[in-house]
Amino acid sequence: MTPLWTAHDAATATAGQTPNGWAASGVSIDTRTLQPGDLFVALTDQRDGHDFVALALAKGAAAALVSRIPEGVHPDAPLLLVPDVLKALEQLATAARARTNARVIGVTGSVGKTSTKEMLRTALGGQARVHAAEASYNNHWGVPLTLARMSADTDIAVVEIGMNHPGEIAPLSRLTRPHVVIITTVAPAHLEAFADLNGIADEKAAIIDGLEPGGTAILPADLAVTPILTAKASMAGVRTVLFGTHAQADYRLTDVQITEHATIARARQAGADMLFKLSTPGKHFAANALAVLAASDALGLDRALTSTDLGRWAPPSGRGTRETIVLDDVENLSFGLIDDAFNANPASTAAALDLLAACHPTNRVGRISVGRRIAILGDMLELGPTENALHADIANHPALPDIALIHCVGPRMRALHDALPKSKRGHWVETAAELLPKAAQLADAGDIVLVKGSKGIKVSLLVDALRKL
Ligand code: ATP
Repeated sequence: MTPLWTAHDAATATAGQTPNGWAASGVSIDTRTLQPGDLFVALTDQRDGHDFVALALAKGAAAALVSRIPEGVHPDAPLLLVPDVLKALEQLATAARARTNARVIGVTGSVGKTSTKEMLRTALGGQARVHAAEASYNNHWGVPLTLARMSADTDIAVVEIGMNHPGEIAPLSRLTRPHVVIITTVAPAHLEAFADLNGIADEKAAIIDGLEPGGTAILPADLAVTPILTAKASMAGVRTVLFGTHAQADYRLTDVQITEHATIARARQAGADMLFKLSTPGKHFAANALAVLAASDALGLDRALTSTDLGRWAPPSGRGTRETIVLDDVENLSFGLIDDAFNANPASTAAALDLLAACHPTNRVGRISVGRRIAILGDMLELGPTENALHADIANHPALPDIALIHCVGPRMRALHDALPKSKRGHWVETAAELLPKAAQLADAGDIVLVKGSKGIKVSLLVDALRKL
């Protein structure tokens, strides 16, 4: 097998010093997941990676990318010595990008980046060798790591580009040099770092800065900030494709039907209808899928194949995955669980409540459902000064009449608890751990329970507890 990085290629890319003779089959930044043969990159993030170089080599790393010889490591060890490890990782990324003929898709957006990246991997994987990160590697080290791991024979690379602060996206997009970019949506998230939604739209639009000449920008059509995105695209002179429900959309969703286990969508493009099906429910997923179909077309791939393979996509764990928890085998008692505990902001919380409302509690007497729809909602973090209003506003969600009970977790969710009509008010607790002893009371046979919240609030603890009922 051709190695991913030889000592010579890595030294050339980074202008680093290294003994000859090693070749790496992968790139790792974490000794817990390192595979023998990986090039270990001693990044300094929360911890100094140099402290782990000896362990990495003992676990079979082919070499280590370092800015100094770590204590306890023999100077003759296969080290690639550079002045700055992160910079060198970026240089590996640049070299990996330059040596491939891959068509590259960059994905950004306030929500839906990882879902869309995974959809692209599944939907295009039947027609091409697709390279994409296995996790949400979308930041200043995640993007270069994703590119540095790309083999030269990749046909299509999907790179997720995220941000917490202004100015992050453009340099990551320039490193990625995408042929197609997708902005999934622009919504209040990371508002602490931005004055308003326009600021977030400007930042997302900066992904266009890295587009290759002749590239395509696939942009959401339905947003108040859509003109900001299209203005940026037209200033850059790139081809623009709009997707959404708006009449101006080039890929226009005309109908979305949600069933217990599927989403069936109809869309119109260039005067023709198309039908696609996802094997997971969620209106928001239909919008992401439409962007995927537009990307497939932009790359000249076979739409019918893309559409068929889209049907095999399932959401990444914690992002709206649906499961059935059996309470009693003999009596055939169970409840439904929607695990959306990976993260939350107002847009994804609204989408999750739509999804909950579209699901039917499973316990039926004749044709009447007797189970309840229950939501356990954790704080949405990083929303800045309007956070209380944004939490309370969930009480105005149109799906509320269909939801029996909402339990609120976290200090910010107090605002929602107080804004809810009394009949819908469940528990309010400051931490997820406080609700754990009451887990058994959170779901009855026939119910369907949604768990959603920002990662830091750890509502995933409640998902684990509910799974064990
Ligand atoms: P992060 O930056 O936190 O990694 P992300 O942008 O990668 O997030 P995902 O992980 O794909 O987003 O999804 C986060 C949440 O948003 C999930 O609950 C998912 O179901 C929901 N979601 C996905 N796509 C959309 C969309 N288009 N609109 C609203 N919610 C969405």
